[in-house]
Amino acid sequence: MMERYRLMMLGPPGAGKGTQAKRLAEKFDIPHVSTGDMLRAARRKGTELGEKAAEYMDAGKLVPDEVVIGIVNERLDEDDAARGFILDGFPRTRPQAEALVDRGVNLDAVINIDISDDEVVDRLGGRRSCPECGAVYHIDANPPEQDDVCDSCGHQGLMTRDDDRPEAIRQRLDSYHEKTSPLIEFYEERDVLRNIDGIGSPDEVNATIVYELQGE
Ligand code: AMP
Repeated sequence: MMERYRLMMLGPPGAGKGTQAKRLAEKFDIPHVSTGDMLRAARRKGTELGEKAAEYMDAGKLVPDEVVIGIVNERLDEDDAARGFILDGFPRTRPQAEALVDRGVNLDAVINIDISDDEVVDRLGGRRSCPECGAVYHIDANPPEQDDVCDSCGHQGLMTRDDDRPEAIRQRLDSYHEKTSPLIEFYEERDVLRNIDGIGSPDEVNATIVYELQGE
């Protein structure tokens, strides 16, 4: 087993990157670095960064590279990232991938979760999240135990993210195909790409990833 993991989740929106990244972060005791979560937190706090990001996010567009590169660099400078990390939702463009190389980060594995566009539309359309703690559900595939109540924190009233509306979903898929999917080749060339079939329950997909990383 590797002593420290520098991992990254790649795949279209709705592939299950966040769900899987959280589990891997716990298993390997490394921080989960999600640019989407950091941007949403900045919006909740009403910071300048959050305000700048908001209009891009709600339209399903990518936030400018220099903004996300800045927040990731700051996060990776923190002490806990020295023992490894799992990047979730970053890099999403070639300049972002190059910014990681520039800071001397060599990823050990890039976990590329593969699902079709039809599956993305289905999953994101049915996604609900807790505005209080961020827990994520799906109305059919992973409903909360009690209708509209968060299993994790008990908050009543689950929400549909603004960018999970049909128009924004289409835009996010377009951005993925145009800007992010070329990273598959980028990491394939660097011999770190691990392709994972994203169809299956979160437990099944997690088992496949752990097997890929550790062979167990
Ligand atoms: P996510 O939660 O990863 O789906 O991210 C939600 C939204 O945040 C995206 O649709 C983008 O608007 C923005 N975002 C998150 N990560 C990045 C990134 N690496 N580059 C540009 N925009 C991002």
